[in-house]
Amino acid sequence: MEIEKLFSLIDYPITSEEHALIQKAYDFAKSRHETQKRNSGEPYFIHVFAVAQNCAKLGMDVETIIGGLLHDTLEDTDATEEEISEQFGDTILFLVKGVTKLGKLKYRGQERHVESMRKFFVAMSEDLRVLIIKLADRLHNVSTLEHVRPDKRMRIAVETIAVHAALAGRLGMGKLKGTLEDYAFPYAYPKEYEETKALFDKRVPESQKTIQEVHSTVAKTLEEFTIKDFTIDSRIKHLYSLYRKLTKYQMDIDRIYDIVALRVQVKTVADCYQVLGLVHMLWKPIPGRIKDYIALPKPNGYQSLHTTVVTEHGIIEIQIRTYAMNQEAEMGVASHFLYKENKFDKGALPSNKSLGWLDELRELQGVVSTPSRFLEQLNHDLFKNRIFVFTPKGDVIDLPEDASPIDFSYAIHSAIGESTSAARINGKMAQLGAKLKNGDIVDIITSKGSKPSTKWLDYAKTTMARRKIKAYIAEHGGLLQKFLVKE
Ligand code: MN
Repeated sequence: MEIEKLFSLIDYPITSEEHALIQKAYDFAKSRHETQKRNSGEPYFIHVFAVAQNCAKLGMDVETIIGGLLHDTLEDTDATEEEISEQFGDTILFLVKGVTKLGKLKYRGQERHVESMRKFFVAMSEDLRVLIIKLADRLHNVSTLEHVRPDKRMRIAVETIAVHAALAGRLGMGKLKGTLEDYAFPYAYPKEYEETKALFDKRVPESQKTIQEVHSTVAKTLEEFTIKDFTIDSRIKHLYSLYRKLTKYQMDIDRIYDIVALRVQVKTVADCYQVLGLVHMLWKPIPGRIKDYIALPKPNGYQSLHTTVVTEHGIIEIQIRTYAMNQEAEMGVASHFLYKENKFDKGALPSNKSLGWLDELRELQGVVSTPSRFLEQLNHDLFKNRIFVFTPKGDVIDLPEDASPIDFSYAIHSAIGESTSAARINGKMAQLGAKLKNGDIVDIITSKGSKPSTKWLDYAKTTMARRKIKAYIAEHGGLLQKFLVKE
């Protein structure tokens, strides 16, 4: 039966009650959508079934998969909230309502993107699974764009790249992001797509040959040096991601070395560094292209070692990571929903994996009022480059570009933020409003007598620091100060 396709995608044990509930949701959705058709002329149920399968492929839990099956029943059928709550429980009703609320957006252009982003964030801070269902929904819709009217099609494609793929990226769901973008690319930017595709097709066969040669040398060397547990494969760059990179290099494909990259997965972090050492023993790395995202993860949590080496067969990029990091890089936050206790060596998972920006996001959607201000903050806090700054003890704090010592001290702890009196950057005394740079070591000097002032608002770039400073002033300052900090 067709539903077996869905069950086969669930790769963790489920109870017989859960099995029965999925079956019930399947039957419910099938009968409610019975008379409806997609643009393609196919039964509408095909869509909700595909969305549930996407949720299962993302490793989501049973409630999310059921949410996927039912996600269009409130909006598009005669099903009522009471029915869904009675038959499937309040959590699933909550998920379905959440997706429905995200559904119809009546905005145009930039404003619409901003507003839909905002809705996503609200939904996400309530229950991340709502957002995942919505992304699974968009994934199916964007994969069937050929049936949509051309003008509408382009709008959906552009929005998918601007909103849905960007969010998937911020959630660390690299595979989903790449897939969404690749489906949308030809419809969103047809000319650029053609150009990129032609360059790609000309280049890939040759790169793949290089990779094969390098693959066998690396495998032989790892065996020789007794690294027992490893997997080597190659990954081909997503087309849209290649296009983005090409625009930075004047569309000169010869300057891009990671169209096809070799990916080595091992068990432990120590193995990763050993493999990097062996690779550099075999071939010379290109200076400036060795990236240690294990010690310094990307803001979305991405971890891996990257190096570009000059081999006798050509120049290629090699990516080295643990199995757990690879899982994390492809699935991102979704991997936290997995029942994967036995699947990976937990010890290989980074313990201090921070999704600190997610907390900032929650702060943000609570305090920013107008869409344009929201976009400005959003771009500033989330989508611009982040910098990594260190405490004297070597802890890494990730901050937006141009952040100041005030942002830094609030990021450590609000009590430290509030009693900041001075700062040393790389051993030298510095202004509290100084601009921090990537890799700076910052030492905050606190004193009992110091307290936040309105001047600090000029220094603080992060939403969190600004909010805390304002709250402090509002609480401790006089009436006049209260007027001054109002926006
Ligand atoms: Mn849908």
